[in-house]
Amino acid sequence: MSLREGRLIYEGKAKRVYLISNDELIMEFKDEVTALDGARKEHAPGKGKLTASQTAFFMDYLTKSGIRTHFINWDGDRRIHVRRLRMIPVEVIVRNYAYGSFIRRMPLMKPLTRFTAPLVEFHLKNDGLHDPLILPEDIIEAELASMEQIMEVKSVALKVNQLLSELLSNHGLILVDFKLEFGVNGNGALVLADELSGDTMRILMNGKHLDKELFRMGGSVKELMEAYSTLNSILGLSL
Ligand code: 5GP
Repeated sequence: MSLREGRLIYEGKAKRVYLISNDELIMEFKDEVTALDGARKEHAPGKGKLTASQTAFFMDYLTKSGIRTHFINWDGDRRIHVRRLRMIPVEVIVRNYAYGSFIRRMPLMKPLTRFTAPLVEFHLKNDGLHDPLILPEDIIEAELASMEQIMEVKSVALKVNQLLSELLSNHGLILVDFKLEFGVNGNGALVLADELSGDTMRILMNGKHLDKELFRMGGSVKELMEAYSTLNSILGLSL
């Protein structure tokens, strides 16, 4: 289905967002890859289509599995059509294995140690402050969300983790960790939003990253694109 053009209302490092009606948006995934809070940035032709297709695939799968998501459809290229929400400015991270910023704050654990149970973390969405780890109580005091909403966010995040871990495991892949964002719709219901792709998840195939960690570790755009293409072909996503 072709998507109507809209008014640009937001531009981030990896996406542009267009308003197409009072309650619908288009998210356009850029052909750019960034790391280290934007300090490393390169052009990556074809990347937007890969991350849009991955997001569409995972969001569609979650929707069909009973998770309320913002996803409407994918245009077959770099854009997905989504419901407009009031976004909660919190990044929710779910971890199955110790890695990344977890290891930096808890160096007593070895990378890729499996947790006894998944961890759910909250980070303030603020690049200038490097998305600091925050407490549920901080979120409530700052009136970013209520206690009930935080409890629902946590239970939906754990359900998403279960669904995605199983899906990826059926393809021989390991879900190390990922980031979610949530919003609230006009009826006050909590909705899973934003992106789910190699840019927002760590996925291992026989110990090899099929995600942006490759680029964060100094790998080239070509290596990253090959890894994202491998992920797509494993998941059966034809472009
Ligand atoms: P960490 O906190 O270890 O850096 O990241 C944990 C997980 O969340 C990783 O899968 C990472 O890709 C994702 N993540 C954390 N923060 C961000 C962010 O600001 N942007 C994106 N795209 N992903 C993030």
